Amino acid sequence: MTQYLLTVAQYNLAYQQMKKIAHALATTQDRHVIAAVRGLAENELATQLPARSVTQLTTMTDAAAGEAVLEELKPLVQPFGELTAKTVKALFKKDKKLKMPALALDYQALCYVAWDDSGSNRRYIIAEQNGTHYALKGVYANETIKGICAICQQHQQVALFTTKVKGKVMDTFTTHSNYICTDAVQCNTHITDTARMHDFFARIMQA
Ligand SMILES: [Zn+2]
Repeated sequence: MTQYLLTVAQYNLAYQQMKKIAHALATTQDRHVIAAVRGLAENELATQLPARSVTQLTTMTDAAAGEAVLEELKPLVQPFGELTAKTVKALFKKDKKLKMPALALDYQALCYVAWDDSGSNRRYIIAEQNGTHYALKGVYANETIKGICAICQQHQQVALFTTKVKGKVMDTFTTHSNYICTDAVQCNTHITDTARMHDFFARIMQA
């Protein structure tokens, strides 16, 4: 049985820090600048990765060495709990016109699963917390802008995403509108903190 050592978010963090060091190595000869970038990466990664990987990344001398460390870490990433058609249908059981997602996904690259029904401008989202899947859906606007995504916290191409939640009083609704990445696969690769992601999903499902 594989022993998973890190989460998708921790892998994403390792990738981002590796890219920062590789960028510094490629763009400056100033050893103080490079040392500073290595130091920042070490701070970010120290509590997130096995010590050996932190050392390998923060002492890498070129991008290829960094990529090799990431290659080694990839099989140790705990995948998102694989989805079946049955699970998806159960999570959206009230949705009579549910458009099913593709289920053959790279689950080791996903913090959440999202798919769109372009006919109705609906985005469906499934996340997983403590081994349990939960689901939400909303409507996205066609207009996109550059802005901060509420899920990954990065500056990206985003669109307004609106959820509508039933209130306690009959026929009352609360709506929440937030900008999120238009490209959910890219959004996933930017997530380095899933606690913030779960907080956001919980907030927009509250009446
Ligand atoms: Zn995003």
